[in-house]
Amino acid sequence: MLPISLEFFPPKTAEGSEKLRAARQQLYALKPEFCSVTYGAGGSTHAGTFSTVGEILAEGVDAACHFSCIGATRARVRDQLAQLKTMGVKRLVALRGDLPSGYGSGGEFQYASELVEFIRAETGSSFHIEVACYPEVHPQAKSPQSDLEAFVTKVRAGADGAITQYFYNADSYFHFVEEATRRGVTVPIVPGIMPITNSSQLLRFSDASGAEIPRWIRLRLQSFGDDTASIKSFGQDVVGDLCQRLIAAGVPGLHFYTMNQAKATLDLCEALGRC
Ligand code: FAD
Repeated sequence: MLPISLEFFPPKTAEGSEKLRAARQQLYALKPEFCSVTYGAGGSTHAGTFSTVGEILAEGVDAACHFSCIGATRARVRDQLAQLKTMGVKRLVALRGDLPSGYGSGGEFQYASELVEFIRAETGSSFHIEVACYPEVHPQAKSPQSDLEAFVTKVRAGADGAITQYFYNADSYFHFVEEATRRGVTVPIVPGIMPITNSSQLLRFSDASGAEIPRWIRLRLQSFGDDTASIKSFGQDVVGDLCQRLIAAGVPGLHFYTMNQAKATLDLCEALGRC
């Protein structure tokens, strides 16, 4: 069966935590290979991330802790890696992150590749390390080529796999994988899938992350206005077709950005015959 993984963010309130627990219980029907929990850059969600990861492990499911290095010192990263090892965490998603405005820099890492190198030097093979990659090019990259080279460097530093930024144009993913493979990358590159359930939220995220919403999708979403039922039904069709195409091409897995909601991911997986 095609491996799938699920991404959550750490809730900010007790009510959010309760809702996430309920969503997880529904999503576990999909038998995810692992569930990952995002980490606010600058350490802003450290406690919430670690406690959510701990809950998932206690529920008997493998958990990956996202770990961003921007603004961090080597000493702090070393301490946190020790904490994660003690918790029984075996998977990390190693990232640079983006400092929220208002945070100074002053960190000892510039790029995610340096974090991967540091984790390997400090902990050997204790952690399975995933890194991020961008089929439609990271928004701060000097050029598509330099972004691809930065990805190859990150993999050579010791990553075991990669998860992509979400995209709605399958060809950008196929092309990226082809180029990475040509440069010697052999680790699995798992497409990140963002279900479409809310158009204003999606348009906001995409502007910030550099993920492109094709014109026809943007226009269709805008034409639905506040009609959430039509947005969700259109989103299921578009993202379902994307997943079908990716699966037909032999992707190594699918990573769902669940936004802490169960239904959209469950519906997509059901349509794919996954549950
Ligand atoms: P890097 O790989 O360091 O790349 C950052 C930029 O620097 C790119 O433009 C790259 O081309 C360039 N670059 C890298 N190396 C070099 C070099 N040697 N010379 C010149 N340029 C270079 N953010 C969070 O804050 N928390 C999360 O939990 C989180 N999870 C994510 C999960 C996934 C799957 C993805 C795709 C993204 C996630 N992000 C998260 C967002 C991510 O932190 C941002 O996209 C961030 O801007 C880049 O992080 P990175 O690890 O890809 O950085």
